[in-house]
Order: sequence, then C-alpha cells, then structure tokens
Amino acid sequence: MRYAIDGSVNLKIRERFDVVIIGSGLAGLYCALNVDPTLRVCILAKEEIETSNSYLAQGGIAAAVAEGDTPLFHVEDTLVAGSGLCDRRAVEVLCDEGPRDIAKLVSMHVPFDLDEDGELSITLEGGHHRNRILHAGGDATGRETVKTLAHIVSERANITLREHTCFYDVTLDGSGAVNGAIVAKRGEFELIETANVVVATGGIGQVYRSSTNPSVATGDGIAAAIRAGAVVENMEFVQFHPTGLWTEETVGRNFLISEAVRGEGGLLKNKAGERFMLNAHELSELAPRDIVARAIFRELERSGEPCAFIDITAKPAEFLAHRFPTISAECAKRGIDISRDPIPVRPVQHYFMGGIKTDLDAKTNVAGLYACGEAASSGVHGANRLASNSMLECLVFGRRAAEDINARRASAVSETAPELPLRGNASEDLAAVRLNVQNIMSEYGYVIRRADGLRYALGEIQRIRAELEGVFSPSQGYLEALNVATIAEEILRGAIARTASVGAHYIEV
Ligand SMILES: Cc1cc2nc3c(=O)[nH]c(=O)nc-3n(C[C@H](O)[C@H](O)[C@H](O)COP(=O)(O)OP(=O)(O)OC[C@H]3O[C@@H](n4cnc5c(N)ncnc54)[C@H](O)[C@@H]3O)c2cc1C
Repeated sequence: MRYAIDGSVNLKIRERFDVVIIGSGLAGLYCALNVDPTLRVCILAKEEIETSNSYLAQGGIAAAVAEGDTPLFHVEDTLVAGSGLCDRRAVEVLCDEGPRDIAKLVSMHVPFDLDEDGELSITLEGGHHRNRILHAGGDATGRETVKTLAHIVSERANITLREHTCFYDVTLDGSGAVNGAIVAKRGEFELIETANVVVATGGIGQVYRSSTNPSVATGDGIAAAIRAGAVVENMEFVQFHPTGLWTEETVGRNFLISEAVRGEGGLLKNKAGERFMLNAHELSELAPRDIVARAIFRELERSGEPCAFIDITAKPAEFLAHRFPTISAECAKRGIDISRDPIPVRPVQHYFMGGIKTDLDAKTNVAGLYACGEAASSGVHGANRLASNSMLECLVFGRRAAEDINARRASAVSETAPELPLRGNASEDLAAVRLNVQNIMSEYGYVIRRADGLRYALGEIQRIRAELEGVFSPSQGYLEALNVATIAEEILRGAIARTASVGAHYIEV
C-alpha cells in the first residue's frame, strides 16, 4: 500500500515549507532549533505539544559530563546494553557529541537540577557504571526540557508550530525524492510542499495494551516511511519497562516508576517481602531492563501475583518528596505513600529500539526523508537501550539531521497531488480493531515470546492489515488502526526471523 488515503479525499495544496518536522517531542524541537534560521520550518504535533514521550521522561539525560567519566566509558556501557548489535560508529557519535548538546541545553536555560555546590547534579541509573544522568525538576526532566525548547521555538520567526495536525504520508517526485507531506486537520486534508521531511514521531506503545507511552504513540511516522519505501530494522526489539505502576486497569497509559528510584536504592521485592533480583544478576536491581523485566515476569508467573513491589521506604520522606515529586504525587493519588508503602509494579511496553534505518546524519534511504529520536533506528541502541540514552539520541541526531538539511539546500519540485483509486468504506469499529491488535501483541509478542505464538499472531495481524488496506475512512482512528497493524506485523516478522534470544528479544523454545 502506498498511501493511507484514497481517491475520495479532496487534497488541497496550500503551503510550502523548506522543512516539515513531524513531531514536537525533544527530537523534533531540537532539530527545528538547529535548522538554519533562513529556512522556513513547520513542526506538526498530532495533539498539543505536551502529548509526547519526551514530555513524560522522568529520570534524565545521559552524558559523560561528570568528573572521572569519559565518552569512552559511556560508549562501553552502551555497547554492553545493546548486546553486540549496536553500530559502534553511531554510539561513538552519540557519546562524543552528547556533552556538547548538553552544554547547549544549559546555555538555552534548561533548568537542570544542581547539587549543594551549585554544580550539575549527576546521578546513576541501571546499566551505567558511572554517575551520568542529568535531571531537571527532580523527576520531570522531559517536561522541563520540552517547555524550555518550546518557548524558544515560539520566539523563532522561521518556525511555525501546528498542533492537532495529523501526518499521513510523504509524497515523492519522479526521481523518488520527497516533495511533500500529506496532513489532516479536523477532517481537512492538505498537501504541504517540501523537499525535507523529518520523521520525529516517537514510539509505538499503542501497539500494546499496556504502555507508558501516550495515545499519540501509534508509530505513524514509521508506518508512513514503510509505505514510502524506507528501510526499517531491528523491529523485534521492543523494550518493556520492568516497573510500570500496577493498577487494576489493563488498558491505557501506565504511569512509570523511573529507574532512578532503583538508582537511589529502591529494592525489588515480592509480596512476601523477599528480594528476588539478588540471584538474577550481578547488578541486582540495577541490572539492564530486559533482565529485570523478565525476572519480574517469571516471579509473577511463579507466584500467581499480579504485581511485584519497589521498596524505597529506607529513604527519608523529605528526600523522596524532593527527588521524586511527580512519582510521589502520582502514587499518593492512588493512596500509596512511597516513604511508607512499597510501590506495586509490573512490566509494560516502554521504548522502541527499532525503527526507520538512518545513517549518521539521520538520513533514510529515501532522498529528503530524515528520521530522528525514537522513530529512528540510528544504530545506538542495538538490541537494548541503555537508560537515558534516548533523550541524548534525540539531541545528537536531531541536530545532525538539521545540519545535513542546512548543507543540502534542496527545494521541492512542485507537482500535482497524487491520483488515487477509491477503496470501500471502513465499516468496522476501528477502536475494536486497534484493541484486537493490542491484545494479540500483548499475548504473543511480549516480554517472553514463543515461535509458534509469533507465527499464529503474524497470521492474525496480516489478515487485519489486509482488511484495513482494502478500505478507507477519513478518520484518525482509521489511520491509527492501519499504522498499529503495520508496525505489529513488522515486529512479528523481525521476532520470527531472529530465532535466538538477544537483548530485549527473548524467545523461549
Ligand atoms: C514515561 C516515560 C519516561 C521516560 N523517561 C526517559 C528518561 O528518563 N530518559 C530518557 O532518555 N528517555 C526516557 N524516555 C524515553 C524518551 O522520553 C523518548 O524516547 C524520547 O523522548 C522520544 O522523543 P521523540 O522526540 O523521538 O518522540 P516524542 O517525544 O514521543 O514525540 C513524538 C511527537 O510526534 C508527534 N506525532 C506522532 N504521530 C504524529 C502524526 N501522525 N502527525 C503529527 N504528529 C505526530 C506527537 O504528537 C509528538 O509531538 C521515557 C519515555 C516515557 C514514555
């Protein structure tokens, strides 16, 4: 399928921008701020600017800026987390250039937390062997960073932010290069002419029933890139965060209990109060995420309990209130006082290591199509992401995309909107279709996978996708159901092809 829309859509050509950035998370905003101010930039956000993974990021941003740390140590920890599947050159770029982008954020007045001496407060997280994590607002690093960058964006004359505008597809000219972006706002479809489209659409959490990602995380940019012929890779590598806050509800966004809670001494316990990570890994609670997620998963299978617990009650109440204000408040809403009660947790979908294959300049194989942030597979995460490397990836590769665009100076060749055939009307309940995909993926493509289950799931998802491709509805619900099915199919294909367990992909025979 080439386009999500069909011939019934009245596609108006209204505007032209030098660069269209899909996504107003950290990758999109930082990319926009690095584009040459003489170029006209349009940033699209599916909802309002606050609805993104970036805004929700708690723990912080990793970079080798502390005394005694070096980019090389950061490279080593990243390669270990990636289980041998990282692209070393991409990791070196990330770790070498990251400290400069952090310095730029400091100069932009991102309010990073400081220690008693007025120096940057730098903490530890799982998988890091050095203190390397900068944070802001205690545990509101994403919110503070996005707010600061969004404010600067709002003052830039060359940048237009369009909220509540949904990206569907890129259009290509006769030579196969990008020449436009199809978008919709309140049911009105439009073709924006541009030679540069940057996909910064974030994660794919909505492919699963339980995720820390918001509703917008339906993998739209990745699915559109696939339709345009871009190469995707590492799609089987889905990170399940070991410690989503457990609640009775099974569908919707799960609140995250950040790794930093374990970094500050939180202990994982079962209902009987026993620690079960001591025998699971040398770093016990601070082991890589996939190991902790599987240990909890197995502990829950063994005990039949719905959740495990993080116990941080050894820390003083004042420290917890100051260090984890967001987590304290969110738990308090559910009657949990984290200074006295263990926090109920279980693994949930959290991060996507795979995505659109990009080079060191965030370029895809389609001329004029860039990808950065969580939607991209830049090579830095391999089979598993090291905690807090993703925000750094947004910065380093968002900037690199901008630098390439600045140097390329391409402009779109005007062409008429594509002629498309008509398809039948989508008559099914699209929310139910999406839930069906989520249920299949949560059963068969989750923390622990089995070959026969993956094959069964692939058959089901292919059937759902084929049905969706045969019809059309101008609703966002249709696009999202189609995209979620597209991403699910690629995850299952990747998981079936990778017959041995590695990193976040764990297959049981
Ligand atoms: C709860 C939580 C905590 C996290 N904590 C950390 C942490 O401490 N450290 C860390 O490094 N990482 C953390 N992460 C991961 C990190 O936040 C993300 O990987 C990163 O912020 C992704 O940024 P992004 O810019 O690529 O995408 P996002 O921030 O998710 O932004 C995606 C943007 O794309 C837009 N979009 C999507 N589809 C469309 C469409 N069709 N049309 C128009 N716009 C569209 C969305 O509206 C949004 O603006 C956390 C993630 C979560 C969910």
